[in-house]
Amino acid sequence: MALKGLDYFKFTPKNNCKACGKPTCMAFCMDVAAGKLSIDKCPNIKPEDLAKLSEASAPPMKTIKAGAGIGEYTLGGETVLYRHEKTYVSKTLYGVNVNADNAEAVLAEAKEVDYLRIGERMYTEVINVEFTGDKAAFLNAVKKAKDALAMPENPDAKSGSKAARLLILSVSDVAAATEALNLTKDVKPILNGANESNFADFSKLAKDAGVVLGVGAKDLDALYDTVAKIEAAGNKNLILDVGTVSIKDAFANAVQIRRAALKDQDRTFGYPSLINIGKLSGGNHECEVALASLFTVKYGSIVLLSRMNYAIANPIFGLRQNLYTDPQKPMRQEPGVYPFNNANADAINLTTVDFALTYFIVAGEIERSGIPANLIISDAGGYSVLTAWAAGKLTAGSVAKYIKEHCGDKCKNQVLVLPGKVAVLKGELEEALPGWKIIVGPNEAVGLVKFLKDFKSAA
Ligand code: SF4
Repeated sequence: MALKGLDYFKFTPKNNCKACGKPTCMAFCMDVAAGKLSIDKCPNIKPEDLAKLSEASAPPMKTIKAGAGIGEYTLGGETVLYRHEKTYVSKTLYGVNVNADNAEAVLAEAKEVDYLRIGERMYTEVINVEFTGDKAAFLNAVKKAKDALAMPENPDAKSGSKAARLLILSVSDVAAATEALNLTKDVKPILNGANESNFADFSKLAKDAGVVLGVGAKDLDALYDTVAKIEAAGNKNLILDVGTVSIKDAFANAVQIRRAALKDQDRTFGYPSLINIGKLSGGNHECEVALASLFTVKYGSIVLLSRMNYAIANPIFGLRQNLYTDPQKPMRQEPGVYPFNNANADAINLTTVDFALTYFIVAGEIERSGIPANLIISDAGGYSVLTAWAAGKLTAGSVAKYIKEHCGDKCKNQVLVLPGKVAVLKGELEEALPGWKIIVGPNEAVGLVKFLKDFKSAA
């Protein structure tokens, strides 16, 4: 049961000393109860009370760190069941299953996927090595997977310019797990293989190596009991494998685990989840994309596929990016000059706002026209065209300033097409950009194809 502000207030000295940054003890306690502040920000609570309150006020779902260095990823820590309630925190990670037979081919294909979408670097974040019964072959595949963890640096990426992948060792044989951990413990893999019969050995192995332990079981009751026993033995660094008996069971398990943790506040299930859809799909790749989408929404912390390529990545990475943004903050395209259809500095220039949805619609229409063109995006606060204009974020001054400061050699053809809805800016822009020809474009992006084709034929 979540504690209320008054429950915390009883344990403060009530002297309003402000050391916590709040004006009164009561204000501090209300923020702690709302999850905005941690109780340990008050230095005046007795240590024994602090320990009790910290346990009671901890989020129902643990935040787990897996991997090492630039390959460390955060899993879990979610506080809401539905994204519209607040925001999701730790995005779903996507990975590929490899084994002794297919490691080279699957890794080579997965490594090809590396691109930017709205400033975020998209790539295969996880490699899951599966034990198929032959220890030597498994260890060989582990070595190949470890070699594939490093990512080339991408200076264009705002986040993740330096990155590495996360390794999972899926093995339920203690001897193979021990040797694989010895080979890889510097990269802190997830050891996925504990179950109702081997959990004591596996928990000790994971604890000794300081790595996250993946726990599975034949059904949800057995999983609950196994997790409770592992916790009682002092290991709370876990991820829960929802199982691969059937799609129906895996989905029901994923939902029930998350609901038990967040709605019923049952901390035994308060861990991130791992879903191996490569095994659920029966080798049907279209089915895998559908399942990856399903388990991105509900509630996979790590989703493993049998392969990764651009056809699979584009829809699921796009879905994830939309889901794991703060609904209160608009998604923005980075300001810049974006060439389309092999445009160079002599191509026609268009401009629009940095609201991601507007950018993608306009970019799609320019691409569809086949006419080389540069799209100039300046900082417009992340709003749509009319909203940005009404808010004073899209003005002749802001566009002209951006062009003068950033376009230079990239836009030698001094022709600029304005969105039709802000035709009112034409006169001011002509004054602010002497020598430029300002043309009013169509009101809607859908008119751009005809507009650009007509422009080319008239030129
Ligand atoms: S630091 Fe503690 S005692 Fe001081 S105002 Fe904050 S809650 Fe009250």
